[in-house]
Amino acid sequence: MSQAPVNAAGLAGAWARRSGKAMARWLAGTARALESFALPQRCPECGSAADPDRLLCDRCREAIPPLRLELCARCLAHGSEPVGCRRHPGRGVWAAWVYDERAALLVHALKYGGRPRLAQALGPVIAAALPAGARFDLVFEVPLHPARLRERGYNQAAALADAVAGALAVPRWSGALIRVRPTREQARLGPAARRANVAGAFRAIEPAALGGRRVLVVDDVLTTGNTLEACLDAVRDAGAEAAGAVLAWAQ
Ligand SMILES: [Zn+2]
Ligand SMILES: [Zn+2]
Repeated sequence: MSQAPVNAAGLAGAWARRSGKAMARWLAGTARALESFALPQRCPECGSAADPDRLLCDRCREAIPPLRLELCARCLAHGSEPVGCRRHPGRGVWAAWVYDERAALLVHALKYGGRPRLAQALGPVIAAALPAGARFDLVFEVPLHPARLRERGYNQAAALADAVAGALAVPRWSGALIRVRPTREQARLGPAARRANVAGAFRAIEPAALGGRRVLVVDDVLTTGNTLEACLDAVRDAGAEAAGAVLAWAQ
């Protein structure tokens, strides 16, 4: 018997030990690629044929109620009426959809299903929700909590921001907003604690580059509005104009 397989295995083992993280990433990527072949190409809502890169069939996706409304992140975070606010400029967030069960299927697959490619078809949906005359100079993403980033391997808001920037033909700046202090996970906190948790928690990595720019900050779902409000604050603190855009509003 040849020694070669033993040696090859030994080398592979050494390589894996040296670059265990790279190996884990590669395996996860391969597993996702294989999964996308193995997944039934069926719409999870109605069972009809569907493009795996879109998840839902066209009919189910078109049935998601459009919103295309500007919501005030600050009013939302403080429990006030978020529609039609004129008191808080620079906190406006445009939402494309109402977060119904179909939108939830998409967002869930995008966030937890290891399918960031779904964002490519969703970016244009977000872009279409923006008012016709709106112009932006840069597209940012809402940073993902570090614990979630480690677990997931990607930030779904960044994947959406890439696609929105592409659809709008606006420059994308990934990683432009950073966390300046540790925060706890929002989902585990009550309303007041959520506000305190993220207030002032973000800043622009290079504020001097943002003066006078019009910045669009993208996230997947708007729920309490606290995190997006804190990100918009960081953009305005850098002397830029801020607006937000999300796929869906979970009322
Ligand atoms: Zn369907
Ligand atoms: Zn407001």
